[in-house]
Amino acid sequence: MRKKIVAGNWKMNNDSKQTSALLEELLAKRPEKTETKIVVAPTFINLQAAVKQVAGSNIIVAAQNMHQAESGAYTGEISVDMLKGINVNTVILGHSERRAYFGETNSLLAEKVNTALKHNVTIIFCFGEELADRQSGNHFNVVESQLKEGLFHIDENQWANIVLAYEPVWAIGTGETASPEQAQEMHAFIRTLIKDTISEKVAEETSILYGGSVKPNNANEIFSKPDVDGGLIGGAALKADDFLAIVNAI
Ligand code: PGA
Repeated sequence: MRKKIVAGNWKMNNDSKQTSALLEELLAKRPEKTETKIVVAPTFINLQAAVKQVAGSNIIVAAQNMHQAESGAYTGEISVDMLKGINVNTVILGHSERRAYFGETNSLLAEKVNTALKHNVTIIFCFGEELADRQSGNHFNVVESQLKEGLFHIDENQWANIVLAYEPVWAIGTGETASPEQAQEMHAFIRTLIKDTISEKVAEETSILYGGSVKPNNANEIFSKPDVDGGLIGGAALKADDFLAIVNAI
């Protein structure tokens, strides 16, 4: 059985007080017995306090990014060892905002993937087409190249540390979600691609999350699709009640 996962990407929101207040509310209201993995990704500066605050609970703390080099002269950057040193063992890589605003290419992401896997860190690997790609009918090709160039070089046994997050760029923060049918169609395409390129076992066992304007009122329908194993949530992850309503929608 594939894992069900709901992950909140807080982006550049919440200072340390707000981070601790939101976590406190999540801790108080979260379902304690759910099979769903609950992940939150605060900003770097609040990770250490977040890890301490959620210790012993079923909330997992992830980073939103990391540098591909293991250490060295990279002013302002954060390494995988620094994350591991504070017990952060999950990282989001390849978010469309990193690709668009910080020039992260598929080949750079392949390096980040290698570094994270070398240190046994779980990766939430994001990818997805832009509006123009969908309008020109090129969305499957774009997604296929993002996966093949950024991720598919890894060994089969490393897939246990991979979670995929399909996020069509036109649906992120826009209020416009892909329809449940569009999400299912792409997720099924991705699963078949993994089956044909890697193996049937990896295809069956890899969780594929959907991201892009998931809200309490649409989560249930999206999550009911057979190849959608959860969500990567931006805006709605900033309110405990909304985020937990999405967690409970699985
Ligand atoms: P959104 O963001 O839910 O605000 O659309 C999703 C994401 O960027 O991961």
